[in-house]
Amino acid sequence: MKKIAVLTSGGDAPGMNAAVRAVVRKAIYEGLEVMGVYNGYQGLIEGKFEQLQLGSVGDIIQRGGTILRSARSAEFRTLEGREKAVQQLKLHGIEGLVVIGGDGSFRGALELTMLGIPCTCVPATIDNDINGTEFTIGFDTALNTVIDSIDKIRDTATSHERTFIVEVMGRDAGDLALWAGLAGGAETILLPEEKYEVPTIIERLKSGTGRGKKHSIIIVAEGVMPAAGLAELLKQEANIETHVSVLGHIQRGGSPSARDRVIASQYGARAVEILKEGRGGIAIGMKNHTIVDYDLQEVFEENSDWDLELYALSKELSI
Ligand code: ADP
Repeated sequence: MKKIAVLTSGGDAPGMNAAVRAVVRKAIYEGLEVMGVYNGYQGLIEGKFEQLQLGSVGDIIQRGGTILRSARSAEFRTLEGREKAVQQLKLHGIEGLVVIGGDGSFRGALELTMLGIPCTCVPATIDNDINGTEFTIGFDTALNTVIDSIDKIRDTATSHERTFIVEVMGRDAGDLALWAGLAGGAETILLPEEKYEVPTIIERLKSGTGRGKKHSIIIVAEGVMPAAGLAELLKQEANIETHVSVLGHIQRGGSPSARDRVIASQYGARAVEILKEGRGGIAIGMKNHTIVDYDLQEVFEENSDWDLELYALSKELSI
């Protein structure tokens, strides 16, 4: 393989730039030419390519977002769209592609690999919800953003003896809520993966108050219900007053943490090595603190990596 390309796709995550930098630098180090594709798969279809040099990715390791920009492409979901993308890649002499994104982007990469363009996938999403890897790029940074907010909310919750409900991102995945709840010392954590009962939440709040607890923090993942909805339920069913804080898109931005920069560098470099070996349809990830690569199909198999032990611990410590 002599020429590869790199794109970022789907939801953005802090650390994507560090991954782009790693792909470009490692590719050039290995003697490959590397093209940047702008606007994800849509840019692939439209031929938005630019040759990247060592200097093109200077001064980006610390920047949030993605210099290649991201997009969602409905056209790429059609075979016709993907065939256009293949034509563009062939036209530019590109033999392999590194896709940096979430599981939707990985599906696109699998489809493209089946059309003869070997793809390697670098997991980047704040949700940490990709099968086969313990950590995705962006999760650590988002977690630290959430913790920073919870700490601040805790100050005011303590001063005014209030109960706060903090809504964090996570439509189907509760990692961010769980880790933030554990690290932020939340009293109750509500996650899409685990059933919750409003009476149990009320019981916990009341038993805390009974022991003289003056404030409480409840973390709710957006996929469970909106924080305002939960506040309404607590008011209606037990006359409990709460204050709501929805963290929203601040969780997606910001300078990546040191950890995200390091794993982005490791994942990006490995993705290039795999392509250089002529392999495609591969996802990069981490297992037991080791960088691994595995068949992209595994990402879509039904097996939950849900950390039951961590969830149980969060409950034990928040009594
Ligand atoms: P993420 O990568 O963050 O999960 P999306 O789910 O929006 O984000 O996926 C990003 C893009 O990947 C989509 O806009 C689409 O172009 C492409 N994609 C997603 N699923 C498929 C699929 N089944 N086939 C082909 N392309 C897909």
